[in-house]
Amino acid sequence: MPRYTDHDVEHYDRPRRRTRPRTKDRPAHEDAVDGMVVTVDRGRFTLLVGDTVVTAMKARPLGRKGVVVGDRVRVVGDVSGEDGALARIVEVTERSTVLRRTADDDDPVERVIVANATQLVVVTALTDPEPRPRLIDRALVAAFDAGLSPLLALTKADLADPEVLLSTYRSLGVPWVVTHRGEDRVVHGLDALRERLAGQISVLVGHSGVGKSTLVNALVPDARRETGHVNAVTGRGRHTSTSAILLPLPAEWGEQGWIVDTPGIRSFGLAHVQPEHLIEAFPDLDEMTEECPRGCTHSEDEPECGLDDALRDGVADPERVASFRRLLAARSITEY
Ligand code: ZN
Repeated sequence: MPRYTDHDVEHYDRPRRRTRPRTKDRPAHEDAVDGMVVTVDRGRFTLLVGDTVVTAMKARPLGRKGVVVGDRVRVVGDVSGEDGALARIVEVTERSTVLRRTADDDDPVERVIVANATQLVVVTALTDPEPRPRLIDRALVAAFDAGLSPLLALTKADLADPEVLLSTYRSLGVPWVVTHRGEDRVVHGLDALRERLAGQISVLVGHSGVGKSTLVNALVPDARRETGHVNAVTGRGRHTSTSAILLPLPAEWGEQGWIVDTPGIRSFGLAHVQPEHLIEAFPDLDEMTEECPRGCTHSEDEPECGLDDALRDGVADPERVASFRRLLAARSITEY
């Protein structure tokens, strides 16, 4: 038997690589297992494969296709979760939703922040810091545009009455929960929130000081430990302040729910949101715009908007139309 020399191996490998570049990985995909992306850090992906925390990279055939938190993926390679083990993501399952933002002016790229989320929870303190309605509006626009159900989580109700803020959002039909802190400094009123989170993949957004971290820690008592574990796996400790992280809610709540904590989102760039898409989140209003001229944005300034006809005819709720138009305007208002 002739032995292979280095030269032979090279000779044998090269044409194969050139003629079948993409099929090379295929057979391995049969062994692929399902995973869920927990966090992303500079090209490294932390996944949950069953209960195992696995580190993975993207396989070459995925090219520039983005992989984001919440993505359901197929992985091959070492999924043992042991130190130094590295798996490869070979496939990203089709996303049911994508939460996007258009970044700031100096970075005009539209980014997907989270995949497959079902709910956007806007965490707002009722005071200290004061609520920022513009910021809430913009988060709601992002939720409606992405097809996520919005939820207002209002914290610090022990310090301020929620009614003022709620009156602004009631006509939009946005559900809300209120929490407060007792003298024991413990967060109360979590049951209603837990009920809303069960079985959902909820993205939590809110600026600093609103009590989002407190909520996360109250909802997922071992969040710190989980986070620490993920840090140990990625070998980096900074992700909690820069990128989103998916956390499983306690199993004893019943239907498995997840929350995505998003320390990285300070604002939602909304340049990608189209008026015709936004109004679809309000079917009753959408119906009234059937006769609108082509390209009507349904704003107050439109000369022949069906919403104005509906208001004149007394068919539309003025508060609801006004609230919708406020959201519409929030797309282009960047001061808040
Ligand atoms: Zn219109």
